[in-house]
Amino acid sequence: MTAARRVIVVGAGPGGLAAAARLRERGAGGVAVTLVSPGLRAAFLAGTLDVALGDAEPSAFAARVALAGVECVAGEVTAVAPDGVELAAGRMHADAVIAAPGLAVDEESVPASWRRVAAVWDPDAAGRLRDRVLTPRAGRVVVAVCGVPYRCPPAPLALAVALADRHREARHQVRVTVTTPEPVPLAGVGGEAPALVSDACTAAGVTLERGFAPDLGASEDGVLRSTDGREIAYEGALLVPLHRRPRCLASLPGEGPMVAVGERGSVDGSLLYVVGDAAATGLPRAAGVARASAVAAADQVLERLGVVAAPAQEPIEASCFMFHHGGALSRIRVRYVGGAASIATDGPSLDLWPAREGELRRFLEAAGAALPG
Ligand SMILES: Cc1cc2nc3c(=O)[nH]c(=O)nc-3n(C[C@H](O)[C@H](O)[C@H](O)COP(=O)(O)OP(=O)(O)OC[C@H]3O[C@@H](n4cnc5c(N)ncnc54)[C@H](O)[C@@H]3O)c2cc1C
Repeated sequence: MTAARRVIVVGAGPGGLAAAARLRERGAGGVAVTLVSPGLRAAFLAGTLDVALGDAEPSAFAARVALAGVECVAGEVTAVAPDGVELAAGRMHADAVIAAPGLAVDEESVPASWRRVAAVWDPDAAGRLRDRVLTPRAGRVVVAVCGVPYRCPPAPLALAVALADRHREARHQVRVTVTTPEPVPLAGVGGEAPALVSDACTAAGVTLERGFAPDLGASEDGVLRSTDGREIAYEGALLVPLHRRPRCLASLPGEGPMVAVGERGSVDGSLLYVVGDAAATGLPRAAGVARASAVAAADQVLERLGVVAAPAQEPIEASCFMFHHGGALSRIRVRYVGGAASIATDGPSLDLWPAREGELRRFLEAAGAALPG
C-alpha cells in the first residue's frame, strides 16, 4: 500500500474551504488534507456592510473551522512552495499546496491619528470604527475607494446608498459621497451593472465621484484630496484601503497584489496553486469565483497526484448585491463558461434579502459542516 499523499490548503475563506471540501470528497483515501488558517476563524467578508451600518456585530459573520476528515491547524503561513509551507512552528511538508490567503489590506496607509476616518474593509475592523461614519449629525460622510483592485466592486456604492438612507431616516443633515478611482464603476463586470449601481446612487441622493484617485499624502483628517486636485471636506469617512499581496505569497511571480497563475491556478506549472482573490485571473474578486477556482485546482491536484481524473471544469458563477434607496436589493450575477462571460441582474426587490442571507448561511456551513463519508 502507498501512503496517502498530503495536500495543504492555506486559508479558510470561500476558496480554502471549497478546496479542502473538494479534496476530502473526491480524494478520500488517496489524500490527507490539512487546512491552515490563523485561529481557524472563518470570516464572511460581505458582512462588513451590515457591521458598518450598525445592523449586526462581527461575530454574526464568523465561524470556527471544523471540517470532518480534514486536519485543521491554527497558524499563520509565512511562505508557500510546491512541497510545503512555512509556519512559525516550523516547516510542514506536502505533495501539493493550494493557497487561498485572499488579499491583505493596508490599513496603515491612513494615519491612525485621523479620528474621523475608518480605514476598514472587513467585519472586525468595521465593528471597531463604524461610529466614524454613523455618528455625524450634519455635513458630509464619504465612502472612498483608495485604489484598484478592491474586493467586491459594488460593495462601496451599496454601503454609501444604505448610509444615506440611514442618516435620512434619523433626520440627520448628512449628505453622502462615494468616490472611486475607476472612470466607470463596474465597467469590468459589464452588462447592465455600471448603470444599475450609478442609478442607485442617484436615486438615493448619493454623489458619485468617478476617476477620484485619493492622494493620501496631500489629504488630512477632514479633507480628502485626489491626485487631480479635487477636494472633499467631510465629517466622517470610510476608506476602502489599498489591497496588497499577502506576505506569504511575496516571492511568487506577478506584479502588484495578485500572483500570476497558469492553468487552474498552478504557479509556473508546479504543484503549488494560488486561487481566489490572490490569483490574477482577470475575474472579479468574488466568493463564487474563489470557490470555483479552488474546486478546479483541487481537481487538478488530485489528477496530478494520480488519485482520480479531473472532471470537466464547472462554470464559474458569482453573485454580488447592490443596496437601493428604500431597502430593496438587486443582485448582479456573473457566469463564465469557457472564457465567455454573461451578466444578469435581478431586482431591485425586497424579495432578494433571503438570497443574500443564504450566501452567509452557505459560508458558515462550509466552515463548520461535517462532510459526507
Ligand atoms: C465588503 C465586502 C463585500 C463583499 N461582498 C461580496 C458579495 O456580495 N459577493 C461575493 O461573491 N463576494 C463578495 N466579496 C468578496 C469575497 O468576500 C471575496 O472574493 C472572497 O472572500 C475571496 O475568498 P478567498 O478565499 O480568496 O479569500 P478570503 O475570503 O480573504 O480568505 C482568506 C483566508 O486566508 C486566511 N489567511 C490569510 N493569510 C494567511 C496566512 N498567511 N496563513 C494562513 N491563512 C491565511 C484568512 O484568515 C482567511 O481565512 C466581498 C468582500 C468584501 C470585503
